[in-house]
Amino acid sequence: MKTTLKCTICPKGCELAPGEFGDCRVRTNIDGTICCTTYAHPCGLNMDPIEKKPLFHVLPGSPILSIATAGCNLHCKQCQNHSISQKGEAYTSGGSKLLPNDVVAIAKEKGVPSIAYTYTEPLVSYEYTYDCCKASAEAGIKNVLVTAAYINPDPLRALCPYVDAANVDLKSFSDDFYRNICGARLQPVLHALKGMKAGGVFLEITNLLIPTLNDSAEETKQLCNWVIENLDNETPLHFSRFFPQHQLQHLPPTPEETLLYAREIAFNAGLKFVYVGNLQSREGENTRCPTCGKLLIERRGYRVVQNRIDLGKCPGCKTPIPGIWD
Ligand code: SF4
Repeated sequence: MKTTLKCTICPKGCELAPGEFGDCRVRTNIDGTICCTTYAHPCGLNMDPIEKKPLFHVLPGSPILSIATAGCNLHCKQCQNHSISQKGEAYTSGGSKLLPNDVVAIAKEKGVPSIAYTYTEPLVSYEYTYDCCKASAEAGIKNVLVTAAYINPDPLRALCPYVDAANVDLKSFSDDFYRNICGARLQPVLHALKGMKAGGVFLEITNLLIPTLNDSAEETKQLCNWVIENLDNETPLHFSRFFPQHQLQHLPPTPEETLLYAREIAFNAGLKFVYVGNLQSREGENTRCPTCGKLLIERRGYRVVQNRIDLGKCPGCKTPIPGIWD
């Protein structure tokens, strides 16, 4: 009799017969064990500025080794990396085999202070991400997840000790949006955000504003209030500009006014660090002291022009600025 196994990594809870793949296209039942086929087979390895993740409060101006594995447990109609996120390992790899220690060796050779698990969904390649994070942490290199945070509490709890920071893509504050546009649900993401915070992971949040789908002032207010009440008002929030792509080619790019208005809503709600991305808006990329207003980090695109933060504090009024600064 063929035994079906339930994958316990994410809230989808796929029941997998031998050889069958989960909704993420990378986890499968092999000889009675659920494994990720992406283990040691990344489909992308690049050097990026950490600002590109985006992470604005973590080692500003530093390079980060970015590693991607195939697959994702969401199916966002706006995905800009759908050619690797919506494919299984067999359709994306081609590079050399990289065990966790090899990834750490590359990071050391490049002299980077951190590694990002990014571009697709690192949590569906859970065992590989976990082993890389553990090996990297043991070598004194920081780990960063760029994730949609669609993961169950137990695997998340086990991973958190090896993760320093995460940028979580909070795609909307509407369960309908998650169901219809992403093929997922909102509540597990909110739960995972609280789990990461409790697990000591430094969080930044990105919200891509898509015209007519998730860009109402009301929804933005709800999202900001949730962050303040459940995480804290010092969590950096990035509003990002949408460009037509993948299955949403018919929608226009996000108007500049929408992004700037969302930023205003977030500040009015009480968030202290709010940014806009994918937009030529110098002020929207800068970090200011929430107490005295002093310009602390000036950015242009992914470049840090100046960083005045001194030992994690504003050099003027000495207000501590949340983040990982060294
Ligand atoms: S991680 Fe993949 S296989 Fe596991 S439950 Fe989620 S979608 Fe299904």
